Amino acid sequence: MMKYAKVIIDAALNTNTTSTLDCAWDYLVPPNLNVIRGSCVIVPFGKREIDGFVVDVKEQTDIALDLLKPIKRLATNFVIKTELLDLLPQICDRFKLRAIDVLKLYLPSTIRKGKPKRNGKRRVPIGIEKTDHNVVLNAEQQHCVDTVLSQPDKVFLLKGVTGSGKTEVYMHIIKKVLEAGKTALMLVPEIGLTPQVLANFKARFGDVVAMLHSKLYGGEKFDEWLRVEQGTARIVIGARSAIFAPLENIGAIIIDEEHDGSYQSDSNPRYLTHDIAIMRAKANHCPVVLGSATPSVQSFYLTQQGQYQLLELTKRVNNVPLPKIELVDMANEIRSGNGGIFGNEVLAELLQTLRQRRSVMIFLNRRGYSQTVRCLQCGWSAKCENCDVSMVYHKDDEQLKCHYCAARMPFPSRCPQCGSTYIKHGAMGTQKICAELEKLLAQSNLYVPVLRMDTDNTQAKGALVKILEKFASTAPSILVGTQMIAKGHHFPQVNLVIVVNADGGFVSDYRSAERTFALLTQVAGRAGREIGSAGKAYLQTYMPNHYVYKFIQNYDYNGFYQREIAARQATKYPPFATIVRVLVSGMVDTKIIEVIKQMMQPLRQYDGEKQAFIYLGAMKCPYGRLQNKYRYQILARIKQDVVEQTVNFMDKCIKQIEQQPIARSVKIFFEINPSSLS
Ligand code: ADP
Ligand code: ZN
Ligand code: ZN
Repeated sequence: MMKYAKVIIDAALNTNTTSTLDCAWDYLVPPNLNVIRGSCVIVPFGKREIDGFVVDVKEQTDIALDLLKPIKRLATNFVIKTELLDLLPQICDRFKLRAIDVLKLYLPSTIRKGKPKRNGKRRVPIGIEKTDHNVVLNAEQQHCVDTVLSQPDKVFLLKGVTGSGKTEVYMHIIKKVLEAGKTALMLVPEIGLTPQVLANFKARFGDVVAMLHSKLYGGEKFDEWLRVEQGTARIVIGARSAIFAPLENIGAIIIDEEHDGSYQSDSNPRYLTHDIAIMRAKANHCPVVLGSATPSVQSFYLTQQGQYQLLELTKRVNNVPLPKIELVDMANEIRSGNGGIFGNEVLAELLQTLRQRRSVMIFLNRRGYSQTVRCLQCGWSAKCENCDVSMVYHKDDEQLKCHYCAARMPFPSRCPQCGSTYIKHGAMGTQKICAELEKLLAQSNLYVPVLRMDTDNTQAKGALVKILEKFASTAPSILVGTQMIAKGHHFPQVNLVIVVNADGGFVSDYRSAERTFALLTQVAGRAGREIGSAGKAYLQTYMPNHYVYKFIQNYDYNGFYQREIAARQATKYPPFATIVRVLVSGMVDTKIIEVIKQMMQPLRQYDGEKQAFIYLGAMKCPYGRLQNKYRYQILARIKQDVVEQTVNFMDKCIKQIEQQPIARSVKIFFEINPSSLS
């Protein structure tokens, strides 16, 4: 009996066609080849040979036999796990993705291409490990572990302040899961995947722990992945893409710091890790635990709706108090003649802390900072009149634009509020801060090491660990860094945390306040982690009256949530609406504009009939040209009660356009509630 394979091919890989349509073709399976569902194969395609994935093996085909070509060979002996293959249609449908892009996540190219010759050397000093195997859980922790393990089909949101023992809860869940003969998957934000985390898990569980993330060298990645695939590693700790790890018989999926933006990919293929985790958990009949000190509004909302179950850890282990958080009005500092980086009181406290031989962390919130426009004299910032979000500076045409409506204004030469000309956009770098600090310290005859940690100087392998170890072993010292220093680190000697520009997270995004709340709460939590030490955090801001700061100061998550969810309901933002962006990019902007026009037509018509959109518009992206490609977008805010059919309609419009010649030279990406609109 002849066998035929349905193969999804990677046609775009070797041609200039960029259609986002999937190509599935039937091929003949040669009798000597062991091709099964999930195999990765090399097939003839035109005059070339390309990669393909077998999604079905069958005994009949509709294709005329003389047109059928045989599969050439296996690309690799690895086979995609059945569970993941079964989820393929669901994942493609949820996120409107091409199957080929998802299949490539299942079997990454590192794996398909075989182990690279140049092997990375194994993990480099791996930091300060904790080996306390005998932690006895407190009652709250034990309750969490028991609840999770007794209800395998549920999704839990574990809310607990930093240092309340969440990691310890994860470890106990994992221990039980392993004892039951199952495997466990724990995701951590990319940035939080410190050597410390791995060291702690290795110390506790030994060699069954594998780590999967983007910083691994090819050879290492291959080895770690292989250990998972073969079942020798039964615990996977990894960043976002590790959600596709080839684990079988999963007993628990944990997403730590679930609010973190890195769980949503913002390049193709775009997916949300939580949703995939829940799909995999369902297939494995296992629980999902989403953990955070500051849950995403979306996740907390789902606990209120009864879709997730809320679990709480209400106090810090050992009752170490949370640091006191002070606001510093930087506009006031300028008015009183202090134009420096630090407020007067902040500088005094900084010097005093160092004199007491305690350490300091200085945090620079740079994300999106360069996009926001602000008056340094009075703190005014450019806000959209319609949307209550900051307007975004577009360098191209020197305009400020709102990304949620059509509002725009020229970049003001004078502040509309106070008339000053101190209007700024742009970021202050860590380097500049370090230089300034060294000057200040020398003036005070204090000579303490100033360590810098940002994406520029931590690329080299081991660089990150070196800086962390130096900081950990040198007191007093100062660590200056971006988002990177916010996550997870535990340095008992740190008494003071300074956030240079707390407002930096306020970009034109309905989630700005949420992100700011999470980030600053976390940063502040780095201070005063040792019993008996009084931690303090200063937040320097130009908008001290913004409601988010009051909630941060009071560690009032619930208050913040109530305020935020009410605002979202009133203004119709997620979870009360769904935002969709259709991004079109390509080399020729007239073609992109034509594609956008053709897509908008049926959408406008649809809206006329169904009134499905709260907002629908097309515009150039804030980054109007990236890597030589022009970028335009359609933004839609869809009413929640018609979201499914409307998303499907939009997807259909895209697929239709893609079949036309005009679409050949552009790429079209579809994003649901995108993490960034840049
Ligand atoms: P979180 O993940 O919530 O920030 P961790 O789980 O890292 O908190 O716990 C903070 C510290 O407290 C760690 O050093 C951990 O080993 C310790 N710890 C956690 N639970 C207990 C416990 N029940 N008894 C003693 N120490 C604990
Ligand atoms: Zn607007
Ligand atoms: Zn002003």
